[in-house]
Amino acid sequence: MNILTFDTEEWYFEKNVHGGRDWKYRQFDESLDRLLPALDKRGLKATFFCLGKMATDYPYVVKKIHSAGHEIGCHSHTHTWMNKLTAEEALADTRQAVDALEQLIGEKVKSYRAPAFSVGETNTWFFEILAECGITRDASVFPASRELGGFKSYGSAEPATIQYGNAIIHEFPVNTMQLFGKHIVCTGGGYFRIFPYWLIHHLVKDKEYAIFYFHLADLLDEKRPRLSREQYERYFKEPGTFLNRWKRQLKTNIGVSGAFAKLERLLDAEQFVNIDKADSFIDWTTKRTVKL
Ligand SMILES: [Zn+2]
Repeated sequence: MNILTFDTEEWYFEKNVHGGRDWKYRQFDESLDRLLPALDKRGLKATFFCLGKMATDYPYVVKKIHSAGHEIGCHSHTHTWMNKLTAEEALADTRQAVDALEQLIGEKVKSYRAPAFSVGETNTWFFEILAECGITRDASVFPASRELGGFKSYGSAEPATIQYGNAIIHEFPVNTMQLFGKHIVCTGGGYFRIFPYWLIHHLVKDKEYAIFYFHLADLLDEKRPRLSREQYERYFKEPGTFLNRWKRQLKTNIGVSGAFAKLERLLDAEQFVNIDKADSFIDWTTKRTVKL
C-alpha cells in the first residue's frame, strides 16, 4: 500500500521567516495549481497536512485543496517542533490548529503529522494530546534514531496501534531504511530528491507499506536562499552558526530540480491512497499494539 501525503506550510513560512514576498506567494500558488490537476487527472486523493495558521491566514489555499477532494490533516499551528514544547503548550497548539482547520472546512480533522517528525521517546505524552483533540491517526513517528530524536523503540516501520493510557491512535510511521549504517528515508525529503527515479521505485515497488511525504517547495525546481543567523535562530531555536546554516541550506536544496517530474512518474507507476482510505483498508486487529 502506498500512501501519498503533502506537508503544507510554505505561505506561512514565507511570511514569518522571509517577510512575505508577493512573487514567492505566487510561486507557491502556481506549484499548488500544477500539483492538484496532476493528482486529479490520475484520480488520486492525498492527505495534505496543513498548519492551523494556514487556515486563518491563507484560507484560500486550504479551501482549494479541500474542495479538490483531498483529506485535510493537521500539521501543528505554527510549525513549532513538538519536542521543544511543554505538554501544556503542545496541547494549546494542537487544539488551536485543529479548531482553525475544522472551522474552515466544516469537517472533523482526524489525521496529524508533527513538524519534522518531532514526536519521540521524550514526548510520548503527545499521543494523549492528539486523542484529546479528536485525532485518531498520526504520521509523526520516525522509527529510528535521528538528529532530532526519532522514536527508535517504536520498532519496525509498519502501521501499529499506539496506546497511551486510554488514548488510541493509529500510527503511520515514515519508512526508514538503512544505508551505509545510517537510517534514511527515501520517500520524501532530501533522499527523494537525490536518488534517481529507478532506485526509489525499486526500493518501494513491492513494499507492503510505503508512505510518501512532499512539500510544495520541493516541487518548485528552484533553490531556496540561505537563512540569516537571526532567521535561523528564531525558527530552529538553536545557534545559527555558519555550519548549522550551511548544513540546512544543503539539506533543503539538494536535488530540487526534477523532483516534480520524478513524482509524476511515480504516480503513473504505482497506486496511491490517502491516510483516510489507508486507515479503513487496514485490518488493525492484525497489527501490533505499541503500549507507551
Ligand atoms: Zn512541515
